[in-house]
Amino acid sequence: MSDAAYLKGRHAIVTGGGRGIGAAISEELARLGADVTLMGREAATLAKQAARLVSRFGARSVGIICDVGSEDSIRAAFAKAQEGFGGTYILVNNAGQAEAARFGEMKRELWDRMVAVNLTGSFLCTQQVLPGMLKAGEGRIINIASTAGLKGYSTITAYCASKHGVIGLTRALAAETVKTKITVNAVCPGYTDTEMSHAGIKTLMNAGKTEDEAKHLLVRTIPRGSFIEPAEVANAVAWLSSPGASAITGQSIVVAAGEVMK
Ligand code: NDP
Repeated sequence: MSDAAYLKGRHAIVTGGGRGIGAAISEELARLGADVTLMGREAATLAKQAARLVSRFGARSVGIICDVGSEDSIRAAFAKAQEGFGGTYILVNNAGQAEAARFGEMKRELWDRMVAVNLTGSFLCTQQVLPGMLKAGEGRIINIASTAGLKGYSTITAYCASKHGVIGLTRALAAETVKTKITVNAVCPGYTDTEMSHAGIKTLMNAGKTEDEAKHLLVRTIPRGSFIEPAEVANAVAWLSSPGASAITGQSIVVAAGEVMK
């Protein structure tokens, strides 16, 4: 089978697939032949990205509204998605939010929101596809965690805790499904060039840094000296989705140009 076709006829769901890292992932999976369902909260963003996948790759693609912070919304969205393109072969739990606050100033609401969207959202979306994967005897679950799932960063305690939780979820579910052809892995990007990092730069500027100083503070965490590109994260997801990655499970693949070495 050619590289360009190994996901032909496979249904992939990408949460947060309308923009940023999720959009890059959706493009890579569509390029490889998958039918791609994009989920997120903004209909126009999703529709635009789905149309791009159709026109650029000839893929089947649709956007479905889903707030991963709401169990009802997740249930409705996954039912609609699986009715449309059938059982899910690949789930990419990518939707996420990052908010900063010093620990002493962090409101309970911020903590709850980070855990609800980043961790509980990944759990609930996985619940929607796992029974079908077990029945089919195969599947790929790929959780977009972060280097913040493997180490601590100042002022983002809740985000770090939620992403460490995503790594724990990944490892435990991998252990539970190890006798099947389902693999469960995490991808851990460093600071990536998306709106999320741009918002981090703005927060630092609001705290008195110049734009250059703020950028430098983020980029200096990455040894190669430049942000990770969304396409670099998408390539790791494509590899984890490939037939050749069938023995890779329970792993946290770091895409951070040397920031975390293990
Ligand atoms: P963006 O802010 O650019 O995009 C976030 C995506 O998540 C959007 O598609 C957004 O869609 C979606 N999303 C956010 N909240 C919800 C929600 N409640 N329900 C459904 N969808 C939601 O961020 P990135 O692309 O950078 O981030 C993608 C993932 O990568 C996240 O999990 C993030 O934590 C992780 N990551 C990012 C890094 C970075 O530096 N950028 C580094 C390491 C990890 P919409 O707003 O339309 O709902």
